[in-house]
Amino acid sequence: MAFDNFNGGNKNFPPREMVKGNWKCSECAKEITELPFAPAPDRPIYCKDCWGKKRAERFSR
Ligand SMILES: [Zn+2]
Repeated sequence: MAFDNFNGGNKNFPPREMVKGNWKCSECAKEITELPFAPAPDRPIYCKDCWGKKRAERFSR
């Protein structure tokens, strides 16, 4: 099948588009230079670590 390659052997998934910028984590004040999404200006921004924590909190409820 010619289309086998399309779904199979998908080892390198496409790179996620990162938004470049200069923010500070609302939790630990760490510098953030890129995010996987465009942050809302009226929302707290979290670094990867704090995001993970927040998500874990939510899931363990
Ligand atoms: Zn943080």
